[in-house]
Amino acid sequence: MATSTSRITSEIDFNREGKQVGFLRLPHSVHRSAYGWIPIPVACIKNGEGPRVLLMAGNHGDEYEGQIAFANLLRALSPDDVRGRLIFLTSANFPAAMAGMRTSPIDQGNLNRSFPGDPDGGVTAQIAWYIEHVLLPQCDHVFDLHSGGSSLMYLPSGLCRRHADRQWMERSLELLMAFGAPVSYVADAPQGEDRTLTAAAARQGVMHMGSELGGGGTLTIAALRAAQDGIRRALRSIGALADTVAITPAPQTNILQVRGADYFVYAPEAGLFEPLVDVGDEVVAGQKAGIIHFHDTPWREPAAAAFQRAGTVLCKRMPCRTERGDCLYHLGTPFQA
Ligand SMILES: [Zn+2]
Repeated sequence: MATSTSRITSEIDFNREGKQVGFLRLPHSVHRSAYGWIPIPVACIKNGEGPRVLLMAGNHGDEYEGQIAFANLLRALSPDDVRGRLIFLTSANFPAAMAGMRTSPIDQGNLNRSFPGDPDGGVTAQIAWYIEHVLLPQCDHVFDLHSGGSSLMYLPSGLCRRHADRQWMERSLELLMAFGAPVSYVADAPQGEDRTLTAAAARQGVMHMGSELGGGGTLTIAALRAAQDGIRRALRSIGALADTVAITPAPQTNILQVRGADYFVYAPEAGLFEPLVDVGDEVVAGQKAGIIHFHDTPWREPAAAAFQRAGTVLCKRMPCRTERGDCLYHLGTPFQA
């Protein structure tokens, strides 16, 4: 249906059996290349009927865990290992991924705030439109692996959105338990929810699971392991991987929830951020979270930021230099249906 209106063309045929790799071609006529296109890597492994899955990473280009985990999985799997179809979009915002940035250096687009996109818009809007209107309608599940990126470090977490539909919520929780990250959390729809991949998946009736795996602009062994082991277990749990594919047993995951604004701590001033707690710590309401030092006026008393509620510290800001309004921490509390 809408496929004909995207300017992006695929070098691979998602309906063909077997394993294919190639590029999505996004036409991009610029000074150095009159008839050029942006080569967004894409792959497909299809083996008969079964779950139809989109494996997506690099939605934010500076989040590396999913990009590497999916590349390793793609190289490891043969069609015999798959039941149904896996589409790999390992660096979804490809210009951002090549620049190691959250947003695109071409149009500053944040892909995860660009849905439903625009087939005639800028580069990022075109990618969003293609994902929502071409790829998602061909899928039953999407796994969108994120991490803290350059500015945040997370306790490696699986995540899903809170759903009013009980059955949908139960299936989401089962996926989190199969993924088996050290912690998992159920998030209320944040500000700008309608522009995220999560919202796009909901609009297209596609089951979504996400993650926040480490971050800090780096790659930790623990976060990559959580991604790699977790995605194999999750794919097995939905019947997308053959029994011959090795998986490790799922560790117990601690399921938390993230709800209102009081779960977040923001910098009250610009300055140098001194953290007072670390990810994984348990905190109480009113506890000091961090201190902002004023290096332009070092004789001034530093400003303190405090937690508004008790909880488990899920993420923490990484860069020391901080502007007023930057997120320093957010918490999780035990999940309640
Ligand atoms: Zn992200």
